[in-house]
Amino acid sequence: MLGTYDVLIAGATVYDGTGAPGRKADVAVKGGRIAEVGQNIQATAARRIDAANLAVSPGFIDAHAHSEFGLFINPPGESQVGQGITTEIAGQCGFSPFPLSSRACRHSFFWPDPRRPEWPELDWQDAAGYFKRARSRGMGMNLVPFLGHLSARAEVVGDEDRPLLPAELRRLLQIIDDALAQGAPGLSSGVAYKPSTAADAAELTDCCRVLSRHGGVYAAHVRSYEAGALAAVKEAVEVAAAAGVPLQVSHLSVAGRANWGQGAAAFEYIAAERRRGRRITADVIPYPTQGLWWGPRIVLPSRFKYDWRQAWGPQARRIQGELQAAGAVERLARELEAHPLTDEAAELKLRPEDLWAGLHIVSAGAAGADLVGLPLEEAAARRGVTPGRLWATLLAADGEAMGTVLFSTDEADFQAAARDPGTAFCTDTIATSPDLVGASFCGIQSHPRHWGTFPRVLGLYVREQGILTLAEAIRRMTALPAATFGLTGRGVVRAGCWADLVVFDPLRVGERGTYTSAVAYPAGIEMVLVNGRIAYEAGRFTGELAGRLLTRDELSA
Ligand SMILES: [Zn+2]
Repeated sequence: MLGTYDVLIAGATVYDGTGAPGRKADVAVKGGRIAEVGQNIQATAARRIDAANLAVSPGFIDAHAHSEFGLFINPPGESQVGQGITTEIAGQCGFSPFPLSSRACRHSFFWPDPRRPEWPELDWQDAAGYFKRARSRGMGMNLVPFLGHLSARAEVVGDEDRPLLPAELRRLLQIIDDALAQGAPGLSSGVAYKPSTAADAAELTDCCRVLSRHGGVYAAHVRSYEAGALAAVKEAVEVAAAAGVPLQVSHLSVAGRANWGQGAAAFEYIAAERRRGRRITADVIPYPTQGLWWGPRIVLPSRFKYDWRQAWGPQARRIQGELQAAGAVERLARELEAHPLTDEAAELKLRPEDLWAGLHIVSAGAAGADLVGLPLEEAAARRGVTPGRLWATLLAADGEAMGTVLFSTDEADFQAAARDPGTAFCTDTIATSPDLVGASFCGIQSHPRHWGTFPRVLGLYVREQGILTLAEAIRRMTALPAATFGLTGRGVVRAGCWADLVVFDPLRVGERGTYTSAVAYPAGIEMVLVNGRIAYEAGRFTGELAGRLLTRDELSA
């Protein structure tokens, strides 16, 4: 029987996203929007949900992630939708899928190997072309497609990481102007990555001046998240201020024990600049660990030609083969004992002593099965060998099965992020599905944050540790990023807004994935609505592709 409303969520405790405490109310949905919020709504509905013991909040907004290509392979994006994310701010760290000349298309580490069979034909060139293609496929959540400075720069210089000549700078600014005019709703940068490390503050300021003419946020992956982090945040703040654009500091946490404390200092600095009237917000990945590709990246000597942008499996099999040669394991073990950090790790300013204590084994073949969960240092002590020798041995025994995760950030720095009222949360992942992950997806191995970032905050940091109130945590996941990115009509539970909603159990919500077994829908997320349609319910994606691509005109529509 069809009723007055499409969906009626009855008797829930509503956290409206503004930071106001929860209050009992019914929420009625019709035609994609929230039709009514009130007590004892007397109306029929095609679907009525008794939510007496549950909470309702706006759908979560992932302030920083990379699903701009991933949704082409896997439109539902279950890993994101299943944790309550209804909108993702994508195209981050300087990487976007436009503009896309053949010359530049290699410049994304979220980029397809074009030989991979699951990738669609790359038949667009500019922002408008990508938008059209993305809209033709459907998607499980809303996507806000930022333009990446690095991708635009690569159109001009390819992979030559050098300062631009005046004519090249003019061309770069024209490319940015065109993409923003076509509807890209913001600009991201990633000056820690080639070919944009040569982009200085003056170039970035010129780019942001173009952004200021169109409106939109400058999202900065800053120059360093290690020894130079505080200086790097200051550079981004000065660039944004000089150009007159709002700044979002991306995934702000600082790696390497020697650098601990800089995160807290950066949040203090940001707070002081905000008091001067500057529009600065940030996002944080609420985990003390880096992605799973960091182990081999910072350990394996360059002669092994490991490329962390590519999937681990095939490379591990190749490297394992090389280690079958006589004396090869011994040679690697001695190398790692003498120089346990690659050039890249040295660039990251990691200290050798941080490496073996910080790298934890999260998976291993039979030869290391009893060591899973331990830091390399402790695992090696158990075996009575050096950590370098243990690494070499496990890699030679079953490299493909071997996974490590680097614990590298400071809990006190995270607490500073949690206290900062202008800091939102992000996954910094690519949306994926239970079928796709396996050992690796787009070269990115699975980390529990793929599946549980937002529930982790609600379970661990709100319910268990009391670092944030539930209402405040919800605000950081909803109204705050909605206001930051200009998503009017989203991020609050109010009549007239889009019906992006999460129904969850505050007593049970939490991540279920772990480092050793990352792929698991979270606990306590009962239902997720995207634009008024039920996309996830009772632990399953429903098949609804109700998400929309939100270009500039549609952010506020
Ligand atoms: Zn980044």
